[in-house]
Amino acid sequence: MTRRIPEPFRIKMVESIKQTTREYRIQALAEAGNNPFLLRSEDVYIDLLTDSGTGAMSDKQWSGMMLGDEAYAGSKSFFKLEAAVRDIFEYKHVIPTHQGRGAEQILFPALLDRRREIKNVTQPVFISNYHFDTTAAHVELTGSQAINVVIPEAKDTKAYHPFKGNFDLVKLEQTILEHGADNVVAIIVTVTCNSVGGQPVAMDNIIETAKIAVKYDIPVVMDSARYCENAWFIKQRDEKFKDWTIPAIIKEMYRHADILTMSAKKDPLVNIGGLCCIKEREDLFKAVQVRCIPFEGFITYGGLSGRDMEALAVGLYEGMDEEYLNYRIGQVEYLGAKLLEAGIPIQYPTGGHAVFVDAARLLPHIPGHEFPAHALANQLYIEGGIRGVEIGSLLLGRDPATKEQKLSAFELLRLTIPRRVYTNDHMDYIVDSFKEVLKNINQIKGLTFTYEPPILRHFTAHLEYIK
Ligand SMILES: *Cc1c(COP(=O)(O)O)cnc(C)c1O
Repeated sequence: MTRRIPEPFRIKMVESIKQTTREYRIQALAEAGNNPFLLRSEDVYIDLLTDSGTGAMSDKQWSGMMLGDEAYAGSKSFFKLEAAVRDIFEYKHVIPTHQGRGAEQILFPALLDRRREIKNVTQPVFISNYHFDTTAAHVELTGSQAINVVIPEAKDTKAYHPFKGNFDLVKLEQTILEHGADNVVAIIVTVTCNSVGGQPVAMDNIIETAKIAVKYDIPVVMDSARYCENAWFIKQRDEKFKDWTIPAIIKEMYRHADILTMSAKKDPLVNIGGLCCIKEREDLFKAVQVRCIPFEGFITYGGLSGRDMEALAVGLYEGMDEEYLNYRIGQVEYLGAKLLEAGIPIQYPTGGHAVFVDAARLLPHIPGHEFPAHALANQLYIEGGIRGVEIGSLLLGRDPATKEQKLSAFELLRLTIPRRVYTNDHMDYIVDSFKEVLKNINQIKGLTFTYEPPILRHFTAHLEYIK
């Protein structure tokens, strides 16, 4: 029996979604240059492009929005948000931001400046289990290098490991010594580790990482988009925490870091919002506040309205609810198990927010430079009106020097599950659509560009099928 945990909520408001025909979808996709990013969301039946800002807010969050205090400075909604952060994470200094990357852009340059004042920084670097793409971009914008040291098991889709998001601790210390501790601006712990499939980081690994950071006097930043899902995995997979509550596990995780950045569009169940919070360092807090005003907005709204901060203050708690997390991560696991049963290879075990289908194994007749996972995404749209996203060679792009297509280690189709939006019947429908795709899998063709933008090409490229 695959796990099937019922939704711990009733549906109070519904949004119709359009059912379309196969012919309609073939036409719509062709008009979108065979790139699902360019489809109109109206033409998508089940949208699994991202879990960012796509969750459904609760009645408590919506009613909170009515209480929003739209004051430029000193809004009471800000103080509610500040109190929630202090209670949950025990971090003193709270700065709201418009989303996760807003927190990154005000924090990273301030961290680098502060480090330059106390250390001999020559070639700055940030080290992470795995930098999320905007995180790496903001590290690079400061002139620093972003280095990933995730454990090698993360890259083997077939091998089970309970915490595939862990730091390779030996490699972490080697990297610090190689670059010189003074040059390491921060260690970024990404929970869960999005880029390797929403895989969790173990508590022991967080603690050991923090010990290394203390030894070399390096601050630890928790990149916190999925703090609740990570805590749930710790409770499930580490015997020592099986009797702990989710809030207690979260407090323990954050005790070992100094700063948190957060995209609140993920676990805290809001459609927009972010946070940059500092446990105690007053100097850093002041420096980040100074950057917040020109980039995000005044220090008590950071690009958010009062009602957004109200919804976030509620969502920070709702995301930690264990019954909700059982259902949430159970739903992702349910979809993964059903796909495996149908003979579809996936990244195993499934992570917290998405199922990653291994298109390289499913479509061995399409080479990486003809984008097998993208071809699979298109076919899934044609068969079922489902929109997934390629994580492979198309996303990776060309070598900036040689202009050669880089070959990705993975060719994955990501099916990202929005929070509290789709039912388990929708999950079954996704599996049925995949079974349709399987019937003619050998006939699926690879693609080539008819329009290839020079940077971040996957978003707006047009493609055609190779004859
Ligand atoms: C989404 C995300 C970000 C960036 O946040 P935005 O809200 O999209 O700006 C940073 N880190 C991780 C791990 C994320 O998942």
